[in-house]
Amino acid sequence: MGWFKRIKQGIVTPTTEKKETPEGLWYKCPKCNHVVSTEDHSANLNVCPECNYHDRMNSKEYFELLFDDNKYKELDAELTSGDPLTFEDTKKYTDRIVATQKKTGLKDALRSGVGKIDGQDLVIACMDFAFIGGSMGSVVGEKIARAIDHSIKHKIPFLMISKSGGARMMEAAFSLMQMAKTSAKLGLLAKEKVPYISLLTDPTTGGVTASYAMLGDLNIAEPGALIGFAGPRVVKETIGRDLPEGFQTSEFVLEHGFLDYIVSRSELKQKISQSIKMFNN
Ligand SMILES: [Zn+2]
Repeated sequence: MGWFKRIKQGIVTPTTEKKETPEGLWYKCPKCNHVVSTEDHSANLNVCPECNYHDRMNSKEYFELLFDDNKYKELDAELTSGDPLTFEDTKKYTDRIVATQKKTGLKDALRSGVGKIDGQDLVIACMDFAFIGGSMGSVVGEKIARAIDHSIKHKIPFLMISKSGGARMMEAAFSLMQMAKTSAKLGLLAKEKVPYISLLTDPTTGGVTASYAMLGDLNIAEPGALIGFAGPRVVKETIGRDLPEGFQTSEFVLEHGFLDYIVSRSELKQKISQSIKMFNN
């Protein structure tokens, strides 16, 4: 008796005396609930050792994985967004940009760089989901266009790593114009016969799928990535039918002929390097 009852009222522990559980020590896989230390998870390239779930990586991690000795020269690192529409929702777009830059340490949702992969030159443009959902605004489009210019000028293959919710609504039509701009630049790249590999990662949707992400000489994807234009709910409501299992995953998209291959992160560098070697010969 009394074991489970709080007999005395008002027993409190002051915040200063509470023992803290260190945060971020463990990673629990959202797909299979397997638990590993964050250190091991990061060493395994954010891939679950149990079920092969590929969690997101940022541009810094992709550059580290792909460029030899993590050596590269960043292109247009200082480019930041304007506010052509003086847009405001719950906060001003300009304030949102500044707050996101502070939080993420990024200037916008894409970083580009030039370096070597297994000794071969390569330009990589990689999106960052942490920056307003990897949304494609003017800076993203402009940086891709300039990265392609660099590829054309120096005849260096171009790798695009997409990870995006689509267009950036705060830039409305300016955002949509990036689809045409990047597609036109890729046309010039193709005319110069410089190879373009597009890697689609989780998630690649909206205007990004509808432009540069699907225009590669090779379109490849990571396992289990969401790839689509409109989200499944919108598609379901529009066509008024249930969607097949695995709809809009990399595997589904591959089966329907829109991808060339799916590659696990552990083999990513090797596969891209081989593909470039094949193009260069
Ligand atoms: Zn798992």
